[in-house]
Amino acid sequence: MANIILNGEKLKVGDLKELQTLDISTNRLLTLPERLHLCLSLQYLTVDRNRLWYVPRHLCQLPSLNELSMAGNRLAFLPLDLGRSRELQYVYVDNNIHLKGLPSYLYNKVIGCSGCGAPIQVSEVKLLSFSSGQLTVFLPAEVKAIGTENDHVLPLQELAMRSLYHAHHRFLKDLNFLSPISLPRSLLELLHCPLGHCHRCSEPMLTIVYPKLFPLRETPMAGLHQGRTTVSFVAYCCSTQCLLTFDLLR
Ligand SMILES: [Zn+2]
Repeated sequence: MANIILNGEKLKVGDLKELQTLDISTNRLLTLPERLHLCLSLQYLTVDRNRLWYVPRHLCQLPSLNELSMAGNRLAFLPLDLGRSRELQYVYVDNNIHLKGLPSYLYNKVIGCSGCGAPIQVSEVKLLSFSSGQLTVFLPAEVKAIGTENDHVLPLQELAMRSLYHAHHRFLKDLNFLSPISLPRSLLELLHCPLGHCHRCSEPMLTIVYPKLFPLRETPMAGLHQGRTTVSFVAYCCSTQCLLTFDLLR
């Protein structure tokens, strides 16, 4: 689905910029419209009861988005930066049984996550996963590697990408000079929109993340959810140093 169609009319880019509320529930959607990131005024987005297994990370860049409802889909992971925007205050992901991890940015926001994290065979879902004790969470499909506290040195590709990002981020619009010939398209897209930003220090992460789990049931928020969910908050960090010093409750 490349276009957003409302009342039978295709919305133009100009209209998208003005759009404040969008409800595309119950549409059997497998993915969200690509042009959604153009909806700069969008405050309320409801995509309940579709067949989404991921939401694009560009969604985190919507500056006005206040409420996001994605209940009753097939989500297995959420974008790393979801909740980084201060505007976003309400996130509902109830009844996504594969979903086991919530980005730690969502801590202290209003979340709905009943019916998430049902026990399933790991082999059912072919995604990178991270385990800590008994807990396992799935990571976004675009994450290429997972770092642990023993991986003190970043992979060369990540070092190169971070250097490139910092060297050019002020001139991001000019990144087109790095044509797909000099850089694979997937890496070029990462420079425009990194996997996410370190939940500890905001460093952009482009291929590797260092996850750390905080089971919701072990946080003061547990009382609000009364055991109806088995998800964990996940802090995605940029290095062993941030991994070791991140504290969700501080
Ligand atoms: Zn960091």
